[in-house]
Amino acid sequence: MTKIQTVLGEIEDSQLGFTLSHEHVIVSNGEDSAHYPWLYDRKATMAYAIKRMQAIKAGGVDTIIDLTTPDLGRDIEFMVEASQGSGLQVVPATGIWRDPPRSIMERDVDATADIFVREIEQGIGHTSVRAGAIKVANDIEGFSEAHVRILRAAARAAARTGTPISTHHNAALQMGTTQVRIFKEEGAPMDRVCIGHSGDSTDVDYLESLLKEGVYVSIDRYPGRAPRPTWEQRNQTLKTLLDRGWGEKLMVGHDGWAAVWLKPGQTEPTSNYFTYNPDGMLHLSKIAIPGMLEIGITREQVDMLTREVPRRFLAGK
Ligand SMILES: [Zn+2]
Repeated sequence: MTKIQTVLGEIEDSQLGFTLSHEHVIVSNGEDSAHYPWLYDRKATMAYAIKRMQAIKAGGVDTIIDLTTPDLGRDIEFMVEASQGSGLQVVPATGIWRDPPRSIMERDVDATADIFVREIEQGIGHTSVRAGAIKVANDIEGFSEAHVRILRAAARAAARTGTPISTHHNAALQMGTTQVRIFKEEGAPMDRVCIGHSGDSTDVDYLESLLKEGVYVSIDRYPGRAPRPTWEQRNQTLKTLLDRGWGEKLMVGHDGWAAVWLKPGQTEPTSNYFTYNPDGMLHLSKIAIPGMLEIGITREQVDMLTREVPRRFLAGK
């Protein structure tokens, strides 16, 4: 048995159950909800999040790995209350996404790693909620010196604590190759690294080149949003990788949001995320997994993707 960190405290790895690889309880660009709280209705937003998360739980999802960082508006108290109210287990993350604040940009690698380790070993913010994963991100802004330092800090924090790393990467630009190279330079445990948003590429040889380095690959962002690959294309990518023998290294998710901040007077979000993916974090259960079974992916392989692989990724064995 290995202990896994959730926003409601430690659980046994055997309690993870059906686990989605890359999701968000609530997400925002920046930290407006912390600094300008009058712009939002926290109570209505909480009610909406709990309602959505209850439905996700009722739909058969036991756990989500929540990869929300400070620069995505991480709100640990909100996550705790939403998990309590819904029964959905949430593994929270430390780390930084694409928009490092100036304070992080000016820190050296070890000072940033110290922050990640503190959130892993002691708690996030004023809480004793400990991070269960380290999130980092690289996209069209490229590998600036600050972004590279953050990757190195994540690798060092992973090596120091045994906590896994899960990335956002621009798969069309094949930025996972550089993420892997930097993690390797830092001596990160490569079998504790997951390269996320990999389903945005249909180049199976590229994805296999990452897998050969020992990392996990997350085929997330179901159902896919044009011009990115459709859910059927994501399923086909999975099928090809499964046929090539990578079933023990693949996870799935939606990069979904249970909620976004509601403005005073709103009861439903207006974000187009909720229009293009009305099924939210149940798209896999309702549509994509039945589709996988139709193209010859077996029930055992689905259980591996949704239960055993995320368990191994989080537990380390
Ligand atoms: Zn995400």
